[in-house]
Amino acid sequence: MEYGALVDVYDRLAATDSNNEKRDMLAAVFEDAGEMLPRLVTLVRGRLSPAYDRTDLGVSSSLTLDAILRATGAPENAVREHWKESGDLGDAAAWAVENGSQQTLFSSPLTVERVHDDLRELATYEGAGSQDRKIDALAGQLADADANEARYVVRTALGHMRVGVGEGTIRDAIAYAFLDGSEEAIRAVEWAFQVTTDFRVVAETARDDGQAGLNTLDVELFRPVQVMLAEKAESLTAGLSDAAHDGRALCEYKYDGIRIQIHVGGEEVRLFTRRLEDVTEQFPDVVRAVREGVSANRVVLDGELVGYTPDTITTDTRDPVAFQQLSQRVKRESDIEVMARQVPTVVHLFDCLAESETVLEAPLSERLEHLDAAFEAVDPDPDGVMAGLERSRSSWVTAEDPGPAEELYREALDAGHEGLMTKNPGAAYQPGRCVGRLLKLKPTMESLDLVVTRAKYSEGRRSEWLGRLYLGCYDPSSDSFREVGRLSTGYTDEELASLTDRLEGLITARDGRDVDLRPEVVLEVEYEEIQESPEYDSGYALRFPRFLEVRTDLEPTDADSIERVDDLYDSQ
Ligand code: AMP
Repeated sequence: MEYGALVDVYDRLAATDSNNEKRDMLAAVFEDAGEMLPRLVTLVRGRLSPAYDRTDLGVSSSLTLDAILRATGAPENAVREHWKESGDLGDAAAWAVENGSQQTLFSSPLTVERVHDDLRELATYEGAGSQDRKIDALAGQLADADANEARYVVRTALGHMRVGVGEGTIRDAIAYAFLDGSEEAIRAVEWAFQVTTDFRVVAETARDDGQAGLNTLDVELFRPVQVMLAEKAESLTAGLSDAAHDGRALCEYKYDGIRIQIHVGGEEVRLFTRRLEDVTEQFPDVVRAVREGVSANRVVLDGELVGYTPDTITTDTRDPVAFQQLSQRVKRESDIEVMARQVPTVVHLFDCLAESETVLEAPLSERLEHLDAAFEAVDPDPDGVMAGLERSRSSWVTAEDPGPAEELYREALDAGHEGLMTKNPGAAYQPGRCVGRLLKLKPTMESLDLVVTRAKYSEGRRSEWLGRLYLGCYDPSSDSFREVGRLSTGYTDEELASLTDRLEGLITARDGRDVDLRPEVVLEVEYEEIQESPEYDSGYALRFPRFLEVRTDLEPTDADSIERVDDLYDSQ
């Protein structure tokens, strides 16, 4: 297929804002594509591979600029000027082809196959001289391109097409081209994409085997599946009743880490994130733990990867590290093992998508049996660069008695985790969607700034520190503080130690482990809900409060007032 024909399509796509028009144009292109179909479904979005294949072409804008200059002989300043003006190096390339000193060669006209295959090949150039070879290869394409073709070659190399085609448009175009375009057909294409994350497979299957063929597409080893997403629960009781199946729901810790999909086929292990990035290289500790703990030969597991401090990860009271610290491991390209020792991890497994064969359609309770059969727990060993592998902490709860769920929720927050998940044990795995089968609950009310009025020393490992803090809001009518609850979670050991230092200087009376304090320190806290309560003199109690930060910028009288707490209570 001539590249010029695809360039016409790009121009027509860019010329309309109507998604329906774009869909119809693409449907017509796909119908006529023949053997070019797999290349075209990725190229129309400026991709050269499916969504999960993040093979980087290693083409930067400065490398592309060099290729434009080499192919066209246009003056660098003028090309840069055009680039700056339009903000698009593709437009600058079109100008350079038209105005450069070198004649376009057209020695071998551009075809879609050539543009696609040659650009893909750039990713394989490595080592000394590879930059120069890339510039040459790209310049070779541009030398054979007319102005408009050059525009889109450059945009494809850089991955920004500017023609306004999203995944939804491709999905609909496939359903219109090869199926009847009905809601049901669109849903079938969408499902097939969620499971395969590859429009090349989806388009060819829709064309060759119709909707029935799409329905047979399934999980495949080493091709990531879009993960099931969670919806927000309005409250713990709502979360429980929404998730209940035959009167019971599964409650689990909600960990704050990286979603990780683990594919195992014999000795081969691959790890994918929620965004389908392959992070196998970045987590040798996890690969090692999977090899050690997973006995199943062909299996796909789902879980959350959490980082803990090196000195607590092997204890019973692990301190999770902030997500930002863990996410540095994803970007790391060198000293990976050093980093793995600094931010050791545990994978908390919570689902199984395939064991020998797919179990996506099986209810959660059955998938969990597969999960339990597939692995043995592994203890983390930071020195040996070995991650931990274990089931996420969970408990079965009945809709009538939410007590154990509350307990688990509090326990999760106390241990420094994010909240609670409630899960429907009768539901199938739904890739890429939230459909009320997975509900999340975390403290998310607007935060409050409150003053520490009293405190109590913790028990156990933190017994040196004032770990339980009573919090008051300001009452301007009496110039005093009225308590609204007590806080014991959300701080790191370091934060708690320095907070204790400050508070110990404010102690006015002491009785055993309890101390009264001059009300001077203001903390910002988040919480889930404000309840009426006789326990505190404000008449309210915060549910599941969590420390956010010390507000050194606020005076105690700047703390939130009792009126504001009244208002927030009313607005819930
Ligand atoms: P959110 O990112 O706030 O929408 O919450 C959903 C995310 O929570 C999932 O994508 C997982 O990465 C994470 N998560 C943590 N713990 C669990 C768990 N026990 N079950 C499912 N997802 C979990």
